[in-house]
Amino acid sequence: MFTTGFTSPGSPAKANEDWFATTPDLAVVLDGATVRTTTGCQHGVPWYVSHLGPYLVAGALDKDAPLRNVLAQAIQQVSNLHADTCDLNDPGTPSAAVGMVRLVDGVVQYLVLGDISLVVETEKDGEYPIEVLRDDRVSSTAAAERAEADRHPIGSAEKDSALLLMKPAELAARNVEGGYFIAAADPAAVEHAYVGSFPVREVVRLALLSDGAARLVETFGLLSWTRALNMIEFEGPAAAIARVRDAEAGDPVGEAHPRNKTSDDATVLFADFHKVPSRVVGLRVGRAVNFDVDFDDPEVKAVRSKTLADFHTQTHDPDLTGEDVGGWRRRRDTNQQV
Ligand SMILES: [Zn+2]
Repeated sequence: MFTTGFTSPGSPAKANEDWFATTPDLAVVLDGATVRTTTGCQHGVPWYVSHLGPYLVAGALDKDAPLRNVLAQAIQQVSNLHADTCDLNDPGTPSAAVGMVRLVDGVVQYLVLGDISLVVETEKDGEYPIEVLRDDRVSSTAAAERAEADRHPIGSAEKDSALLLMKPAELAARNVEGGYFIAAADPAAVEHAYVGSFPVREVVRLALLSDGAARLVETFGLLSWTRALNMIEFEGPAAAIARVRDAEAGDPVGEAHPRNKTSDDATVLFADFHKVPSRVVGLRVGRAVNFDVDFDDPEVKAVRSKTLADFHTQTHDPDLTGEDVGGWRRRRDTNQQV
């Protein structure tokens, strides 16, 4: 598995509450939930995600442990670290959405808890269907309060007080039946995670995105998921987040696209399963190589060549891409010269 990732804080004045890590067979993205109330915790959300993440990476080393168990154990380990100093029963105790992908014996396992987007492109009979796995239940909590907050421009006193009223209503629905589920202090939340797997031979590429990065497709509607994956793969995760930042700057108070903050922490982690290292272009950050994939295997070769041929067709057909074909060629050429 070849991976590349990028994370960027929504504001230079605030610590990034997203977190990611990648190894040759593991990808993890965390998105810490914004605090607007008391938390009962003296440590804070950046501390929470930066401890939960490494415990997940360590726990995932046991390939026999299901990802749900890995997450449950990591949540318990972080709780143990501050049970003596903090009130873990506080409704505002630090929490995070979790996305994990692990490659084990030719199988791509995944876990999604909360509103991390896992975007998977597979290959079946010459088609390249995309599945987007995300638990968006948080956005249907506190509906009346959310609608009120959406009426006001970001930065206004009305917006701030509406958000302060919204948060307790949202937290009241956290990790309770009928509400939404997220990693916090109680490992029981993992029962509500989406888990599943794909045979690696069917997976062409995938990406994990925090909701701040998924704005590219979901909030601003700038690209389809296929085109977003093309951009992430060939221009890099940082370019995709830069596109989000441009859109945010063009709608700073959320008039066209109502949202809680102008800019949110944003993370993109991309994984490709069928590239030969020398053919990797445009990838600069955190790349890792999994030597378990046998590139001489005829099935792997067939999937790869089909993928490359299909990508070539898509990127050179203006009807499919909606983009200037010459522009694509230039960008790809530029990448290849780097
Ligand atoms: Zn604490």
